[in-house]
Amino acid sequence: MKNMRTIEKIFREPESHMVGDGFKVSQYLPVGISDMKRLSPFLLLDYHAPHYYSPSSTRRGVGAHPHRGFETVTIAYDGKVEHHDNKGNHGVIGPGDVQWMTAASGILHKEYHETEFSKNGGVLHMIQLWVNLPKSKKMTEPKYQSLLKEEMGIVKLENNQGQISIISGEVKGVKGPANTFTNINIYNVSLQEYGKVTLSEPSFFNTGILVLKGEVKINGNQISKERDFILFDNVEGTISVESMTEESLFIVLSGEPINEPIVSSGPFVMNTEEEIYQAYVDFRNNKFGTENF
Ligand code: MN
Repeated sequence: MKNMRTIEKIFREPESHMVGDGFKVSQYLPVGISDMKRLSPFLLLDYHAPHYYSPSSTRRGVGAHPHRGFETVTIAYDGKVEHHDNKGNHGVIGPGDVQWMTAASGILHKEYHETEFSKNGGVLHMIQLWVNLPKSKKMTEPKYQSLLKEEMGIVKLENNQGQISIISGEVKGVKGPANTFTNINIYNVSLQEYGKVTLSEPSFFNTGILVLKGEVKINGNQISKERDFILFDNVEGTISVESMTEESLFIVLSGEPINEPIVSSGPFVMNTEEEIYQAYVDFRNNKFGTENF
């Protein structure tokens, strides 16, 4: 029998808080997992569980703010999110779509509910990740990728057990559309009742699973509920996941760690205190560009 990749820890959902007036999120990383290096290259994981917003005449969200040194990845499951940045990028993402913004040397952006969605109200369900950049890429040009649902790499599991939808990296020979700076596998897996999948991630990749819907059995014995985050040991072995409910949905975050110092302050993630100080100086001196966009 093949080895199982054992579980290091399971985190229950941390208490939620509001980001601006539009995003009710639970911060799994770096709160549940306080060490920002433990799941490197993933620095932050904000999970916005399904939440109903009443119709609003003003748009809910977060106004212009800066980022430097990493990437923000927004994954929508329900509802619609809109983005504007001062490099001229604009996008709306809906269920199944992903927005991958490389802040790199510096960008200002706004994130809010899409106009019609805000006006009509509705359920928002999404994730935002902060993905670190290696030192050599932190001060490169900002970039923006809009990845639509139909572009995702799809692996259908045999006997209609479910499917894997790949955002980045490669799973079972199928690639996701995201361009990344390091090796990162991000994919959603949906399973029917008793549907089962076996995942193979390299042991040196830091790997975790967030259960978004239903209840699953991991490695044949560990039951995990909706909103549990499962962190795996860095050992050789496969991960098996079986759905215990009519349907289940989970996301796999797995990546090659960036073994460099992390110094993080507010919206900036760099390698040294001096670089953080410089980020604040540059931001104050309008080096990030115009705030009128
Ligand atoms: Mn932001």
